[in-house]
Amino acid sequence: MECDKCGEEAVMHAAYSGAHLCETHFCRSVDKRVRRRIREDALLSPDSTPEDPERWVIGLSGGKDSVVLTHILDETFGHDPRVDMMALTIHEGIEGYRDESVDACVELADDLDMRHELVSYAEEFGVRMDDVVEDDPENMAACAYCGVFRRDLLEGYAEEFGADKLLTGHNLDDEAQTALMNVLEGDVTQIAKHFDASLGSFEDRNEGEEFVPRAKPLRDVPEKEVALYAHIKDLPAHITECPHSSEAYRGEIQELLWDLEENHPGTRHSIMSGYEELAELTAERYRSDEGADLNECEQCGSKTGSRVCRKCRLIESINAV
Ligand code: SF4
Repeated sequence: MECDKCGEEAVMHAAYSGAHLCETHFCRSVDKRVRRRIREDALLSPDSTPEDPERWVIGLSGGKDSVVLTHILDETFGHDPRVDMMALTIHEGIEGYRDESVDACVELADDLDMRHELVSYAEEFGVRMDDVVEDDPENMAACAYCGVFRRDLLEGYAEEFGADKLLTGHNLDDEAQTALMNVLEGDVTQIAKHFDASLGSFEDRNEGEEFVPRAKPLRDVPEKEVALYAHIKDLPAHITECPHSSEAYRGEIQELLWDLEENHPGTRHSIMSGYEELAELTAERYRSDEGADLNECEQCGSKTGSRVCRKCRLIESINAV
């Protein structure tokens, strides 16, 4: 099959758009979608100047998504004096998995000459995910602990590094899965939070003062295309799956979406376009109802709706085993 743009050999066919593209035109189309998303989300504040640039902290795990995001951001803003970028990697303490992906992060940051910081659960909380999984005091999936710890470190360190925005590499498949899970769980407040935490344009979002606002510039690009881009560009991405990736419900939703996409190309895009509009309306409705102010956790000082934050409660429960 030939590329629709130049007649060279096509390396991909996107059933949802009907496009056949060669390596060059495929990579251009990914770059274009990410840049359009950045523009539409008004990611770069009009107030940022070379004298007072915005600081963007990129959550860099070493997997294909965050590596591709970091690469495209560097290509787009690497020489823009209005943006000051750095990468942050979290080491969960997972044998045979995270050490290799940290190597990929170090290699990429070196290649791009980008500031790179590494923080670990072991140093911060005195626990490693491998031990948490073995003890499992709360009888939960590994990702339920890990997600709480990771969010705490990403948010805490983004703030400590003076970030104006925290950027993560969630792709179209990740976001469509989350959208569908929120709808199927009937979790309306979660839909509202999803919008304010990371969807929509910065002109319409109400992130409040509590947390560094998040953005997901890869959220229009399907997972397979992110992987193909990393491969074509020969980026140092680590592709092994986490051995604890046992979020069973998300896995079921992922398979359901694959089947739907196969039979009805464009399903992920249409889910996201309808969901985002719905999420914005929901966020407007729930914001006005929200009365609960956040307090400081009695143990670690992070923001929480309770007396002690979830992360501290989990650490206590792990230490009690
Ligand atoms: Fe943590 Fe789950 Fe991701 Fe593994 S798959 S790194 S346990 S969140």
